[in-house]
Amino acid sequence: MTQIRYHLRTTVVLCASGIALMLSNSVLAQDKPVTRQEMLRGTITPEREWWDVLHYDLSVQFMPATRSIKGSNVITFKSLKPGSKMQIDLQTPLSISKVLHGNTELKFEREGNVYWVTFEKELPQGVEDKIEISYGGHPTEAKNPPWDGGVTWGRDDLGDWYINTTCEGIGASVWWPNKDIGSDEPDRGMKINITVPDNLVDVSNGRLKGVDHDEQAKTKTYHWEVTNPINNYGVNANIGNYINWSEKYEGLGGTLDINYWVLPHQKEAAMTTFKEVPRMLNAFEYWFGKYPWYEDGYKLVTVSYPGMEHQSSVTYGNYYRNGYRERDISGTGIGLKFDFIIVHESGHEWFGNNISMRDAADMWIHEGFTNYSENLFVEYYWGKQMGADYVIGTRRGIRNDTPIIGTYGANREGSGDMYNKGGNLLHTVRQIVNDDAKWRSILQGLNKDFWHQTVTTQQVESYISQHAGIDLSKVFDQYLRTTKIPLLKYKIESDNLSFQYDRIVQGFAMPIRVTVNGKEVTIKPSETMQTMTFPEAITSVVVDRNFYVESEAVK
Ligand SMILES: [Zn+2]
Repeated sequence: MTQIRYHLRTTVVLCASGIALMLSNSVLAQDKPVTRQEMLRGTITPEREWWDVLHYDLSVQFMPATRSIKGSNVITFKSLKPGSKMQIDLQTPLSISKVLHGNTELKFEREGNVYWVTFEKELPQGVEDKIEISYGGHPTEAKNPPWDGGVTWGRDDLGDWYINTTCEGIGASVWWPNKDIGSDEPDRGMKINITVPDNLVDVSNGRLKGVDHDEQAKTKTYHWEVTNPINNYGVNANIGNYINWSEKYEGLGGTLDINYWVLPHQKEAAMTTFKEVPRMLNAFEYWFGKYPWYEDGYKLVTVSYPGMEHQSSVTYGNYYRNGYRERDISGTGIGLKFDFIIVHESGHEWFGNNISMRDAADMWIHEGFTNYSENLFVEYYWGKQMGADYVIGTRRGIRNDTPIIGTYGANREGSGDMYNKGGNLLHTVRQIVNDDAKWRSILQGLNKDFWHQTVTTQQVESYISQHAGIDLSKVFDQYLRTTKIPLLKYKIESDNLSFQYDRIVQGFAMPIRVTVNGKEVTIKPSETMQTMTFPEAITSVVVDRNFYVESEAVK
């Protein structure tokens, strides 16, 4: 999702252009002890560890008149070891009414947002099996989608129902029962069958396989299917008076089916704005390799909130205008050259959906890389200089309040700096690698080698170090695990330049480009003072702005 919020219920800071930025709740959250509910949600508990999700078959009826839902989820799984007790997540106020294992009704008990389901006897290791969970009730309503999610029972401009689900952070278990942790995606994909009043249309992920009309009940059921693994929060239902058109995109994976779903009165504006989609695909396939979901297609679906990276059905609420709701997060004006939501949320198809975090503490893998993808989009169309201006411009939003990496095992993400600081970390790493072809091959390699996988930050960091041929571990430690920005201190004495880093983790020795007397040199400062002698008296030292450091001339 995107970082910027306009509707705020907590402390805000206003940056230069007046864009309200959310002060991270994690300032306090990181110091708080992990509650049992958070632990159950955020860790691979013994009741989760023994089974692997293979497939979800979700059926949900949305009943706007009563703002309630009811349905079932058939979970197909494989036992990785023997097990008899299963953790299923479903948040209050929804409740499970029945769990079926074949013809047997299983016992279950509730502990807050977790259900403990007990099998009639222990399942052996290595079997494939399934359970069917029936559930229903009034789901939590979204207070500020997409950041504070749930179900939005809205109306469109013409008064028709306009209903969306959003659940990043809060979790998919806010509207359907599942194994609600990033590390286990359904390997064979998912069926999403959504029943709605028959004057409405549901748009969900993947491909539309069919529509059933129950004339007596006055409902229609839309059968969507995703054939690839999908992260839970990427699953969504969008219900409204949608119309559709499509186009084909010839890309690295062959022919990609693109579908656009909007409300009828938006079509003209959308047909112009959505021309950004093939442009986005051109740029991102160039930088990151092929779009990860040719089998499931690509959709852009209009919604009432700003947007979200729902896998293969990116949602869009950016008023059909450039920028982020006509604002530029970089403050350079460059952000007004493209539609922020189409570019950012689609960038997540590579970082977030193709490569997904196992633990919410590593969410920078989603947001840092996707923030970074914005400047690569700019670079692809307007050149390297402008791309750099953009990502450097976004530094104004960095707060350095708490580290980017959050708390493990508690479903707690780190600082909102994961966006702009994450992007600037990657821009800085590119400078260290100092070989654009190699850097691009690393970005493509990540998407190829971690294709459709869930990963840890450690895997991503090691991958980049290994393929760059440079140990970047201290650089990642510095920017991901501390709030300190390195300070390059230097002193000029005639033809001598002395320099060292301050405010660094032990062992941090990032090489950095500086221009001395108009000539570019790479120096390798560390925590100890070093001196370089130049052929003539030094009159000027300029630190390359592409590196995210601060500098200070010492007298
Ligand atoms: Zn995002």
